[in-house]
Amino acid sequence: MTGERPVTDLRSEIGLGSHAPAQPAAERHPAERHPAERPDTSNLMRGRTRVGAWDVTVLTDGFFFLDGGAMFGVIPKPLWEKRSAADAKNRILLGTNTVVLRDGKQTIVIETGIGDKLTEKQRDIYGAKALLPQAFAEAGIALDSVDIVLNSHLHFDHSGWNTRRDAGGRVVATFPRARYFTQRGEVEDGRKQRERDGVSYMADNYEPLIATGQMTLLDGAAEIAPGIRVELFPGHTPQVQAVHIESEGAHACYISDLIPTSAHLDLTWGMGYDLDPLRVIEERKRFYARAIPENWLVLFTHDHHTPFARLARDDRGRPILRKPQPPD
Ligand SMILES: [Zn+2]
Repeated sequence: MTGERPVTDLRSEIGLGSHAPAQPAAERHPAERHPAERPDTSNLMRGRTRVGAWDVTVLTDGFFFLDGGAMFGVIPKPLWEKRSAADAKNRILLGTNTVVLRDGKQTIVIETGIGDKLTEKQRDIYGAKALLPQAFAEAGIALDSVDIVLNSHLHFDHSGWNTRRDAGGRVVATFPRARYFTQRGEVEDGRKQRERDGVSYMADNYEPLIATGQMTLLDGAAEIAPGIRVELFPGHTPQVQAVHIESEGAHACYISDLIPTSAHLDLTWGMGYDLDPLRVIEERKRFYARAIPENWLVLFTHDHHTPFARLARDDRGRPILRKPQPPD
């Protein structure tokens, strides 16, 4: 890194975290810039749209990096790198998309990024930036205005800002008034700390909330609020859940790690991280069979530059991004 910037950003003003903020791309040495970075890559608000009565704002905890091979499973690099550029360490640039739904009565948050409780080494490996509270501040959304927090699953890159450390080092809820929801099976799997996926589960992201009763554990599909439903789409984990947003005839779906980015639409383009790759293919078929004909707005969890899109099929029936339609 080239020199430290003083900690004068919003995160320090609102008392969250103590490490220096990520430097904007323009201030870093060109060699440190990822080939996928664009002029807007450092923006903390990634997109905004409407779904019926809901105002939908996509915020980010900051982009991060994962090994491109791990992110594309059995797909050879010459194919995936055409869609997702890799840096010298073979890492691709990914988003940490938090979706905020507001209808004037309720504020609902889907997913909470990576957070600021990683060790320095972990932060360095992933290039984690811990910017979500700053993104909320920029969007003018108070953390204590949030009524409901939904975690699609409890991997650390989806639940990191569920909690934070207060001045005394105690782990407390980042959204103090919110009721949190996730699947019971996620907590049970996290507690197993298995060789295969134990590293993805960090107890501080959920155990303190379970202990205080602030987190409700679900057993399968559920309606969380009027028009807001969760549904299991297993494969990445056995109980990863999507969030449906249905209002005034419009339908959006946060499909989480079943389809992490718009570069992962093809049935076999799963992740090396998926615990059940065959199930991922079947669940993607089931998802596309509804999402494409019903013209759902698909919200991507890890796509930094395309946080949402509608889908279509190409002339061979393969799922693709739908070209933007003229307004009607
Ligand atoms: Zn993920």
